[in-house]
Formats: sequence, structure tokens, C-alpha cells
Amino acid sequence: MSAKPSERSGQVVIPGERLGVIEEFIPDSGTYSKDGVIYSKIVGRALVDLLNKRVSVYPLVKEATVPKMGIEVVGQVGNAQSDNVLVRIFRVGSKDVSGVFTGILHISDVADRYVNSMNEVCKPGDIIRAKVISEKNQIYHLTTSDKNLGVLYGFCGRCGNLLESQRHEMLCPKCGNIEERKTAFDYGKEDFTRRKKGSVIVES
Ligand SMILES: [Zn+2]
Repeated sequence: MSAKPSERSGQVVIPGERLGVIEEFIPDSGTYSKDGVIYSKIVGRALVDLLNKRVSVYPLVKEATVPKMGIEVVGQVGNAQSDNVLVRIFRVGSKDVSGVFTGILHISDVADRYVNSMNEVCKPGDIIRAKVISEKNQIYHLTTSDKNLGVLYGFCGRCGNLLESQRHEMLCPKCGNIEERKTAFDYGKEDFTRRKKGSVIVES
């Protein structure tokens, strides 16, 4: 390890990573020393206190991920009425949520244009990307009124097959059914397999 301890401050370190020597520093929380060398005991952020000559490691705590106003969420459409749908939110920003959150998408917040029925927008089972516009009483009100918002994956109401996005309509390649959706510009492209639930995301 060629980096000076002072340069390591703030960096993410792993157990066994060398942080300095006891001639220079006092090993503090999250560290241990062996043969005069200080190592990290945990996965965390190194904190080198040059003033007090102490080195410690603060554990990386994964912040609870909950929907917030203005943030983009991804969820699955559940109960549908003619003028609103419920959305089971499973992702907030780029992270999987901790807990169960339900959002509501009202017909007036779907698009800039007038929408007749939620049937033209999305159907139960669809995966949609939306933005939280209000969180009164812990109810997350959503909007899809932007070109990057809307259905990411839509499923045929007749046979359940994934719908293909055509120029003005959605086509089921299996049964030929034609439906309507308010799609996001990147319909069918979002990859949900890369981020697995429970995986440790270390951000520096
Ligand atoms: Zn079909």
C-alpha cells in the first residue's frame, strides 16, 4: 500500500486493509493492529484524524431506500380502475426499496394530453417508471407525464405475452392482439437482472 494514511481518509476500505502504523497513529474503532501495523476490521470508510493521530473505520450503513418527492420509481401495476391504478413500487432511483410501498397513478397525471381511460395507459402486471409528485399521508402520488416515464414492459391483456412497441400501438407477437400504452421512450430496454436484491452497493 503506497498511499499515505492521510490520503486514505474517506476511502472505502475492506477488512484486513492496511491503514497505517502504530508509530504514527492510534488504532481506533473499526480497526485492529498486528505487528505494529493498523488494519481495518470492517467494510467501511476510513477516517484519519491527523490532529489526534487516530485512525478509525466507520461502517457503511445502507440507507433505507424509500420513495421521496421528485424521485423516479419503478413498480408493477396492480389494481386498476378507469381513472387510476395502484403501483407496487420496487425500485427507487437505482436502488431496490426496503419495504413495501404503494403508489397511485391518477389519470390526470398520466400525460400532457387528455386520456380517456387508464386502459390506454397501462394494465395490471405492467412494469412502469413514474415520478413521485406528492407523498401526502404516506400515499405516493405518481406521474408518467414525461417521455422517459411510462410503461417499460407491457403484457398482452389476452395472453400475457410481452407486447411489442409499434409506432402508434402495442402489438402482441403471439396472439396478434393490439393494445394501447403510454410507454417510456426506452420501452423494453431496462435491464432488471443486473441489480439483485440484497446486493451490497458501495458508493464512494
Ligand atoms: Zn397476446
